[in-house]
Amino acid sequence: MIQISQFGEITQFKMGRESLGQEPWQPPGQVFYWTAAYLVDGLLIDTGCPHTAEEFVRSLEGRSVKLAVNTHYHEDHVGANYLLQQKFGIRILASRESIPLINGVYKLYPYQELVWGYPVPTKVELLPEKIETEHFRFDVVPTPGHCKGHVALVELTQGWCFSGDIFASREPKAVRPEEDVAGIARSMQKLVELKTDQLILFTSLGNVVQDGREALRACIAYLKDLSLKAKRLEKQGLSAGAIRDQLFGRETVLAGLTEGQLSAENMIRAALRAKM
Ligand SMILES: [Zn+2]
Repeated sequence: MIQISQFGEITQFKMGRESLGQEPWQPPGQVFYWTAAYLVDGLLIDTGCPHTAEEFVRSLEGRSVKLAVNTHYHEDHVGANYLLQQKFGIRILASRESIPLINGVYKLYPYQELVWGYPVPTKVELLPEKIETEHFRFDVVPTPGHCKGHVALVELTQGWCFSGDIFASREPKAVRPEEDVAGIARSMQKLVELKTDQLILFTSLGNVVQDGREALRACIAYLKDLSLKAKRLEKQGLSAGAIRDQLFGRETVLAGLTEGQLSAENMIRAALRAKM
């Protein structure tokens, strides 16, 4: 399913695989997890997940698509790369660390294949520090932490920030085991300090956050506070699971659905590791 929305000159394509009703946890027709791509002035930012690739490419027909960027290598950001290259013949750019991962074959968990699908490995080119479209200029801001090689695209005169997965919500309660909470906080701080009057976040979950600085600051403060509290409880001898129960009440439902990959306990472990 694809939902198309317009935010001034920016077109948002919010997409996700619809349930066929075969999973007990999801009613038919419902999208379990949305992911968003954005098109502005011929520049496409991210390409959605493999399950929606054909529908996405169809929805781009008749629009001006000249170039694409992958904010990072995750399967819900590169899913239509192959089809886009086939149908539009466009160049796709990504950071140096992302390139081998987008062109490589790596293991996905069954929940990832179910929700997003396995992307066709694609050859992408190196992202420069700036991208100019006909009317706009985008700075590429390295924002690691969610994963290596993650970048955000920022149009400083407009105050637009295409933030990929570096910001999901003010108080995230679950992360994957490889996420680096201190790195995420540092990357968000970098975005806060950008020299621009306003900062509107266009997130990969499809949220458009008008006061992006406030949201990023709130998330940084939350992560620092969480890390402090978790470390205090660890000193008292509590395990990561016990700290999770004390701070969050219980494990999130996502942990069960993702074989423990996207879990609150991982968030506590990341907060304990974080040097903030
Ligand atoms: Zn991601």
